[in-house]
Amino acid sequence: MGRVFSINNYKEIKDFFHEKGLKCTPQRLAVLKVLQDTSAYLSINTIHLKVKELLPDTGLATVYRSLETLVDLELVAKVHLEDGCHSYAIAPEGHRHPIVCTDCNTVIEFAECPLEDLSKKISKDTGIQINTHFLQLFGKCKECQA
Ligand SMILES: [Zn+2]
Ligand SMILES: [Zn+2]
Repeated sequence: MGRVFSINNYKEIKDFFHEKGLKCTPQRLAVLKVLQDTSAYLSINTIHLKVKELLPDTGLATVYRSLETLVDLELVAKVHLEDGCHSYAIAPEGHRHPIVCTDCNTVIEFAECPLEDLSKKISKDTGIQINTHFLQLFGKCKECQA
């Protein structure tokens, strides 16, 4: 994950979008702003409600598309919830993997990655150039164990 600018710097965000050939739309910026205001992972419905406080006419589908674009750009991280829904947060610095609590949907990230060495080995064995991977764990957080 290579985020090269501060998420607070709109000029840099704009330039980043333009470099990728994308428009820096008010909706995309509003979604970023909403996520930037919290450290928690938010559901798409919560994000939609908060985006509407900034841009009242924004539809859920627009929020969804904005989020997917931001995920593709690695500005936003997405986690899968047990019920097939997703939640989103500003992408963490560096390479991290999430653990999702299946009771309260709290997300905890860990920096340890067991897959880098494995990827190298598999690349060598299969001749496939492995570029990326997805790993997410599910569990029960400390509060929910109590
Ligand atoms: Zn929990
Ligand atoms: Zn990893």
